[in-house]
Amino acid sequence: MYDLLIRNGRLIDGTGSPWFAGDVALQEGRIAAIGKLGESAARRTIDAAGLIVCPGLIDMHTHSDLTLLVEGLAPSTLAQGIATQIMGNCGISAAPTRAHQFYYGALDPAMTRGLECDWTTMGEYLARLESQGVGTNVATLVGHGNIRVAAMGYEDRPATPAELERMRELTAQAMAQGAMGLSSGLAYAPGPYAPLAELVELGKVVAGHGGIYTSHIRNQTEGIAAAVQEVIAVGEEGGLPAHVSHMQPGAPMHGATARLLQTIEAARARGVDLSCDAIPYTIGSTTLKSMLPPWACAGGDGELMQRLRDPETRRRIIADTMQFGAESGGSRKRTLIKEGKWELIWLGSAEKNLALVGKSFAQIGQLRQQDPHEALLDILLEEEGRPWMLAQDVSEEDFANIARHPVGGVISDGFSLIPQGVLAEGKHHPRSYGAFPYFLRRFVREQGLLTWEAAIHKLTGFASSRFRLAGRGLLREGCWGDVLVFDPERIAETASFDDPYRYPVGIEYLLVNGEVAVERGQVQSRRAGRVLRG
Ligand SMILES: [Zn+2]
Repeated sequence: MYDLLIRNGRLIDGTGSPWFAGDVALQEGRIAAIGKLGESAARRTIDAAGLIVCPGLIDMHTHSDLTLLVEGLAPSTLAQGIATQIMGNCGISAAPTRAHQFYYGALDPAMTRGLECDWTTMGEYLARLESQGVGTNVATLVGHGNIRVAAMGYEDRPATPAELERMRELTAQAMAQGAMGLSSGLAYAPGPYAPLAELVELGKVVAGHGGIYTSHIRNQTEGIAAAVQEVIAVGEEGGLPAHVSHMQPGAPMHGATARLLQTIEAARARGVDLSCDAIPYTIGSTTLKSMLPPWACAGGDGELMQRLRDPETRRRIIADTMQFGAESGGSRKRTLIKEGKWELIWLGSAEKNLALVGKSFAQIGQLRQQDPHEALLDILLEEEGRPWMLAQDVSEEDFANIARHPVGGVISDGFSLIPQGVLAEGKHHPRSYGAFPYFLRRFVREQGLLTWEAAIHKLTGFASSRFRLAGRGLLREGCWGDVLVFDPERIAETASFDDPYRYPVGIEYLLVNGEVAVERGQVQSRRAGRVLRG
């Protein structure tokens, strides 16, 4: 007798193979049988007539590292059909920490108000996550930002030999304690201060543990080709698989993905195992601090506040952005400032300036009767560097190029949230509640950019193979019981930029390790996820 039988579904197995009609049986947390299972007995039966049955989705790029300690259930993630998420991206992970201080990088510190950091190492962090319980399966990369801060703070210079040795040790320790690889965030202090040689050295350590290197690259505008080459160099010289995160160019490089994908193909042809991914929205989201040139953030937030108070340094900050846009580092979105497109940049969170959250900097400038650039610097100062922002600066053409390409994945770049308490404050990006249903509705059902089989492969088998997640991401006998049942005619996001904390529709059932985590669209209260260690 099976524990659970899903009957009459349209089975898409996650490999990209065409669908077939069949049943899926689960037993003791795993997939026990697939095919025409006739009148087999089961404790519970789900009728999936008219529905797609596929592996539970895998989001290979989230930033839920700390939000999961605030609320471990991960309802905004489960509600999208996601059974497994990879955290620790963009150079930012929960561990290691320096002296029990969080490294926020691009994250919004307001989301973790009240959370105490009682760990130092990756092993301690994962143990805490495990003891609290998690709704999804989780795996993490170790952030290069954490490693560099722990070894040498926010110093804007190359590491000394002793500091580099310390970084190697910290990387090796995190890998030995379960990290799946190393991520870098070369737009967020201290990432921009690290030269290629440092990343190659740490890449070699990760290679020795069988991990992957992923990167939020150094430049996503004019210099994007060189920035992608840098990832290739880490993969090639470090001897490990490498992956370019959200490889989406800002102006004036829209359309550049066609060339970048050729570069990746050429590197693969000479034996470098490379891939990339993209976020399905044209609006992105990050920390407001990344609108500054990286030198302004050297030394940490205390020094940044001093610089923002000094009129001469403020003039230099403004002059840098107006002259170079994103070319002198930081976020791609700095180019919007250079171009004067303040109506495309919005404040995403704030405490003292709560009334301005959700407004564009064009509006904020008017309301504060200030030049928008001065307003941005003042808000950073008033809020001690914490706010988040949103900005519209990438093209759907580039998303489509990556999503259609065999080496391209699709990611949310979101957080696991719950629509109440500290995790429901501000106006964060709707991707945390809707990225995958949005992708499947808009690009698969409505535009036909990919077949259902190809799209599901991106979100399952492709992701599990890139991150070597054994027994996940495929409908196969013996695999873990992560299974999604959804309605291809109905699946859609309901979260919007005005109302970002709303659950999607069309997700009928999600099983995580054989347990029902979503039932008829409702997230259940059990935490069936596991901490996956590399
Ligand atoms: Zn990210």
